[in-house]
Amino acid sequence: MRIPLIAGNWKMNKTIDEAKAFMQAVSEQVTDPADVETAIAAPALLLSTMLANNPGQKLRIAAEDCYWEDAGAFTGETSPQALAAMKITYVIVGHSERRAYFNETDDTINRKVHAVYRNQMTPILCCDETMGRLEAGEKIHWVVSQVTGALKGITEEQARQLIIAYEPSWAIGSGKSASAEQAEEGCYLIRQTVADLYSDDVANEMRVLYGGSVNPENIDSIMAKPNIDGVLAGGASLNAETYLQLVHYQ
Ligand code: 13P
Repeated sequence: MRIPLIAGNWKMNKTIDEAKAFMQAVSEQVTDPADVETAIAAPALLLSTMLANNPGQKLRIAAEDCYWEDAGAFTGETSPQALAAMKITYVIVGHSERRAYFNETDDTINRKVHAVYRNQMTPILCCDETMGRLEAGEKIHWVVSQVTGALKGITEEQARQLIIAYEPSWAIGSGKSASAEQAEEGCYLIRQTVADLYSDDVANEMRVLYGGSVNPENIDSIMAKPNIDGVLAGGASLNAETYLQLVHYQ
């Protein structure tokens, strides 16, 4: 049985004081992780404040990115080893904003996926979708090539733990969510890709999230779809009350 995951991605928002206020409002109001798991991904400089203000530890604290080496002369980067030592659970890898603005490629994303597993954390691998690429002559669906590229050298055991977020960039921050049917179609395609790479068994264990203008009004219809195991919300995760509405979507 796949446990639903209601995850937020704060992106480059919030100060330490704001992060602390959010945690005080939310950390004890979230669901039991055995029923519905919750997670917030935040900038690295907010993570220790969040961990220190998470008394019941029901809310998982996640990073938005990390580097692929554990340590060394890489000025400005975030060490996956340091994240693991803080007890960070999840690390977002390959968000479309990182692909678009920071030149991340399938190869660098693949190195990061390895680094996250090597440090006993779990990646939330984001896959973008841009309509029209197939029409423009591409031979393979972009989502399929992103998943395949990111998972090179990842074992079956690791893939079972994986979380993949289907995030069409046209739906991110636009207020124009994919319809529940479009979201289901993308998540299904991702699951099929993992089934082809590994097995049906692995694909059925792995969780797939939808992200892109998720809000308290549309989450119900999205979560009702069979291949969607949760959401990755940006804007709607910034406000404590709105995030709790997402968490208690049922
Ligand atoms: P929005 O929910 O603000 O569209 O952002 C989605 C996203 O990018 C989550 O990673």
